Amino acid sequence: MLGSSVRVYGLPSAIAVQRDLHDRRYQRPPSVEPSERLRPTGGAEIYSAGPNTERRMPTAKQTLGDFGEKAIVKNCACPKCKRSRTLKQLPPNFKCADLVCDFCGYIAQVKTKSTTDVDSLPKSVLGAAWQPQQERMKAGIYFPLFLVLRDETANKTAVYYLSADLQTPAMFQPRKPLSSSAKRAGWQGFLINVAMVDSLFVRLE
Ligand SMILES: [Zn+2]
Repeated sequence: MLGSSVRVYGLPSAIAVQRDLHDRRYQRPPSVEPSERLRPTGGAEIYSAGPNTERRMPTAKQTLGDFGEKAIVKNCACPKCKRSRTLKQLPPNFKCADLVCDFCGYIAQVKTKSTTDVDSLPKSVLGAAWQPQQERMKAGIYFPLFLVLRDETANKTAVYYLSADLQTPAMFQPRKPLSSSAKRAGWQGFLINVAMVDSLFVRLE
């Protein structure tokens, strides 16, 4: 007990807060349903650090994304070091990646999409912000991609994987900037054209 309080209060406050968020995230009881895990009592305040500070409840999209990340953490070995149970979720607002291996340092992105057929890859999945993606591509930076397909009705999940070295600039396609009436006017996202590289994905689960 003494050890843990010394450890936390001895750290700079920003690190202590990060540790607190991390602890809340990983110490949540595994018996709780995925949709229940991010409710306010379970730590939905972690979302208040993001741009939508008024939001306390996770959106359906966040809940689905969290489900996909947890499916990989639970079922997939690290593609780099091949160890099991070493992939961990990064905090929800962490910008470039979603998972990190706490043995070898490998990082990966996860996209999760609802479907009615987990055996078929979708034509495309939504990416995130176009500008940082464009800057990373100019610098030759690509992240391994896990694609989780979820059929809620049939309770089926499939996991596909595309390594970083197989990705090309052409598969990342900018979308139209949001209109001036939108909440985030001018913001521009991108699509990942899965059809363009579907033969390069491998199915893991
Ligand atoms: Zn690893």
